[in-house]
Amino acid sequence: MLTDLRIDDTRLLQRLDDLACHGAREDGGVSRLALTDADKAGRDQVVAWMRRLGLDVTIDAIGNIHGTRRGRSDGPPVMTGSHIDTVATGGLYDGNLGGLAGLEVIEVLNAARLETTRPVAVGFFTNEEGARFAPDMMGSGVHQGSMDLEACLAAVDVNGATVEAELARIGFAGDTPCGNFRAAAFFELHIEQGPVLEREGITIGAVTGVQGISWTELVLSGQSNHAGTTPMGLRRDPMVPAAQIAVFVRDMSDRLGGSQVGTVGALTASPNLVNVVPASVTMTVDLRNTDEDLLQEAERRLAGHLDRLAADEGVDIETRVLARFEPVTFDPDVIGLVAEVARDLGHDVRRLPSGAGHDAQMLARVCPTGMVFVPSVGGISHNPAEHTDPVDITAGADVLLRTLVQLATIDSEKSES
Ligand SMILES: [Zn+2]
Repeated sequence: MLTDLRIDDTRLLQRLDDLACHGAREDGGVSRLALTDADKAGRDQVVAWMRRLGLDVTIDAIGNIHGTRRGRSDGPPVMTGSHIDTVATGGLYDGNLGGLAGLEVIEVLNAARLETTRPVAVGFFTNEEGARFAPDMMGSGVHQGSMDLEACLAAVDVNGATVEAELARIGFAGDTPCGNFRAAAFFELHIEQGPVLEREGITIGAVTGVQGISWTELVLSGQSNHAGTTPMGLRRDPMVPAAQIAVFVRDMSDRLGGSQVGTVGALTASPNLVNVVPASVTMTVDLRNTDEDLLQEAERRLAGHLDRLAADEGVDIETRVLARFEPVTFDPDVIGLVAEVARDLGHDVRRLPSGAGHDAQMLARVCPTGMVFVPSVGGISHNPAEHTDPVDITAGADVLLRTLVQLATIDSEKSES
């Protein structure tokens, strides 16, 4: 019976451990920045697993790895997948879980000799994190068609290495054209990377969409001078408005309420000395909301505040957009299917939006898309301490299995189980 299908948790956990050997950190975490030697080793491992599973493996021009299991029809595949690149201080589960659970689904289908109507594909997308090359979600963005291949190949890291050269160096500059197929549906398993599911004691998150993201870099320029001899009333000190901006971002996000969050995560003064009024301060503002109108309202309020501060403090404030993604709403049918499948399997379910960006948000523009979240212990991610209980990993992978099987519409007559 299809309802008896279950993933093998020991096999999935072993794959997670095996992949974590590539780029392993001494503190137990993983550092596998996109297109490094560690990424190459991880990719080679993934391709070897795919071939052993009998998948048809392709590498496209941005280095995305796709493995496809045949269906009864030659139509577009139902697809799952994620990414195996990490931040420099990453953990074992972000991205890796989604891709490897996809391979586990293939294992189960193969073992049960189940023939699906549609092919089932597993994708490992290049540079989801954006930790080495900007922008993030590069592989899924190029695959889906909203990012330009040539521009992404020309992206450089801090040492001037290009994506194009690094793909060639590690042997993953593939000859398959990007976007050569369009999935019939896309469904991704991911850790929540936040505290909501754990706090509420819920195992399965049916993800409703992904927050919109607005990243801005601000450069505040004033007049650098002696900290002892310059009277307070004669200063043009960019640190003071910088501090006010950080407070404004917090208070404005509080006042807007709803899903609005705001963060000043980076700030550097120049020349950054104890006895010198700074010449300039460079800082970032990260604004997120699930509602595009409200996100634009937050951007407007910030811009208005910057204008007032520049006039009041006598400083110049230059702004530069670092990233801007509109909120994404996932397919209602897929969200409903996740909730139904999870309840059938006996799990508590909660609908929630994603606060982090994911490959699924790129795919959502071209096909029915959804995600399932499992709890992150302590809500911690992008950290070697990132952890998800094996029981929750198993639950999420079983939801992935059942949902994919439904989306690929199993032909039960061909089933030998
Ligand atoms: Zn991720």
